[in-house]
Amino acid sequence: MIKDNILKLKSEVPEYVTIVAISKTHNIDKIKEAYECGIIDFGENKVQELNEKQKNLSLPIRWHMVGHLQTNKVKYIAPFIHLIHSLDSLKLAKEINKFAQKNNRIIDCLLQVHIAKEETKFGLYEKELYELIENPEFTSLKNINIKGLMGMATFTDDTKQIEKEFKFLRNLFEKLKNNFPSFTELSMGMSNDYKIAIACGSTMIRVGTLIFGERIIF
Ligand SMILES: *Cc1c(COP(=O)(O)O)cnc(C)c1O
Repeated sequence: MIKDNILKLKSEVPEYVTIVAISKTHNIDKIKEAYECGIIDFGENKVQELNEKQKNLSLPIRWHMVGHLQTNKVKYIAPFIHLIHSLDSLKLAKEINKFAQKNNRIIDCLLQVHIAKEETKFGLYEKELYELIENPEFTSLKNINIKGLMGMATFTDDTKQIEKEFKFLRNLFEKLKNNFPSFTELSMGMSNDYKIAIACGSTMIRVGTLIFGERIIF
């Protein structure tokens, strides 16, 4: 079933778009199954779960952190994380930089932008985003590399609304790309809206349910 889901998804997604399989709540056997179908990028939203899976899988997986990251947990993922999608404060940037340094690494990150109507979703507003990237305290951090932006659209059936939010993020990305050559990735699109996201210029989609099925929530 996972295999069919992946084959179908791959047939619909252009080559240049990275599929990050969001494996939260799913066990490592399912991750192995997806890996065997050619998926090498996997994402989690909780540090503890991410760490356990990373420890128990010896496959050369590229692990992504897509959920809100608390500063006191950065140290647990710093040795191996491939991409952090949820950088949204100077405090967190400093912490990632510190532990990247300790591990002799440069950690790739995306700045999470608030594009949804819901209040609860994390991320920077446009003004905060500019304040951060123009802050010398931020730009002087040598062990983080900002690869682009991430955003989550409003959870709604209103495709026009979703499209509006993704287009907003795309425009922001294009503007920043002119000044920041390291900006190459735009992470947007989930199971219910990845087609709209790709049409709006996404380079990376984060898909869970469509690959692994419904999550069992305890
Ligand atoms: C869970 C999650 C996803 C995947 O959601 P699906 O609807 O299952 O595809 C994508 N991005 C983030 C940040 C998530 O937490």
